[in-house]
Amino acid sequence: MADFDVDLFVIGAGSGGTRAARIASGHGARVMIAEEDRIGGTCVIRGCVPKKLFVYASRFAEDFEDAAGFGWTLPGEPRFDWPTLRDAVANEVTRLSGLYRKGLEGAKVQIREERAVVEGPHEVRLQKTGELVRARHILVATGGWPTFEPPIPGGELGISSNEIFHLPQLPKRMLVVGGGYIALEFASLFARLGVAVTLLHRGDNILRGFDEDVRVRLRDALKEAGITLRLGCTVDRIEELPDGSRRAHCAHGDPIEAEVVLVATGRRPNTKGLGLEAAGVKLGPVGEVMVDENSASSVPSIHAVGDVTNRVNLTPVAIREGHAFADSVFGGKPWTVDHLTVASAVFTTPEIGSVGLTEQQAYAAGYELSVFESAFRPMKATISGRQERIYMKLIVDKKSDRVLGVHILGHDAGEIIQAVGIAVTMGATKADFDRTVALHPSAAEELVTMRTPRA
Ligand code: NDP
Repeated sequence: MADFDVDLFVIGAGSGGTRAARIASGHGARVMIAEEDRIGGTCVIRGCVPKKLFVYASRFAEDFEDAAGFGWTLPGEPRFDWPTLRDAVANEVTRLSGLYRKGLEGAKVQIREERAVVEGPHEVRLQKTGELVRARHILVATGGWPTFEPPIPGGELGISSNEIFHLPQLPKRMLVVGGGYIALEFASLFARLGVAVTLLHRGDNILRGFDEDVRVRLRDALKEAGITLRLGCTVDRIEELPDGSRRAHCAHGDPIEAEVVLVATGRRPNTKGLGLEAAGVKLGPVGEVMVDENSASSVPSIHAVGDVTNRVNLTPVAIREGHAFADSVFGGKPWTVDHLTVASAVFTTPEIGSVGLTEQQAYAAGYELSVFESAFRPMKATISGRQERIYMKLIVDKKSDRVLGVHILGHDAGEIIQAVGIAVTMGATKADFDRTVALHPSAAEELVTMRTPRA
């Protein structure tokens, strides 16, 4: 042990790396962490947090409209000021990044604000200072990075979700390329901020992998919200027009012109140039660090957590993986993370909340199913006059009566699914749902009052 400068060197101060560093230090380990960008990682700096704040901003548009039905008169036409939102969000991100730093300092973790590269199973080289640190354990927590592959002519004229938070002004028109979480969330929120949004996706429907009924309903709701959907279509080339706007040429159909082209075609693990392969660490097809259930790589002293492992690419999962790693390696309390039952939300409007298996996954796994579903108009929409519906679906195993999956589309779906996730994680049966007394009036009560399975 005396040969090592530190017990743990963490590369990447995002959600997973920061949690691992703090917990390991709490177990008595000497910990150093390196970050080449801002402390906080994707979620805090350019992901979940600023995005959710933008989503809140976008939903005021509806609230102003709905208020009239409830007797409110606004003093004038509501106006939205982009720089005010952008700068307020940037300030909040700075505050949170500061809290992350304080948390690390408070835990006595040494911080190095520069790029670190692995030089061997126990060696890490800091790139600015050239300092070589010998570590008993190395944790790779470098996250992911937006990707647009294969490259297309003019691809660099598009921006990624990294840059969208800093636009100098709100564009009049935006083209969003992709049909996943990021594409849909930004298409939805910018449309509500008054931008004319076109969403172009190569598949025949959005959100591959989500429950089919939810996909279809969200697609229709986005159209209803004024988003132009171009499905089954790819971008071949992007050019800059004399006025600085972009024209995207598609495989078929008319070209699309917009001031901003947001490319959200997925993210790749951040392992390029990290020295991992040379150190003997096995990488997977998209460059992910291959790990076992203990987050251990093919080199015993090197572990990896979070998006860089491309398991379930969600912040709370990275945090748990980091925590489990630190407890297991430094705390003498080994445990592993369950990657199967993870609740997630897509913060479109309406939003999706989802936990467990989709109907399609459950059938593919060989279950015989009872499917319960309900589509209804939320109470608030009666007086506001808004044409919207909430959709809820329970996937139940006929044999054991266990609820295998719950899928919700509508207001507060993310909040509701977090609580439902407890029941599904505990293995709740449909009978457990049925004996739960409804809370009235709420939308969520529908989850415990559905009695007749779909024919
Ligand atoms: P996703 O993998 O969710 O979606 C990528 C989308 O881009 C898919 O629709 C995919 O199509 C499409 N695509 C991929 N390659 C190409 C290509 N070459 N040309 C055209 N289209 C392409 O990635 P995101 O970037 O949206 O998000 C990354 C991850 O971040 C998510 O998987 C999620 O784990 C996480 N995230 C979570 C959020 C949340 O919890 N609310 C919010 C944002 C991100 P196809 O379906 O055909 O493959």
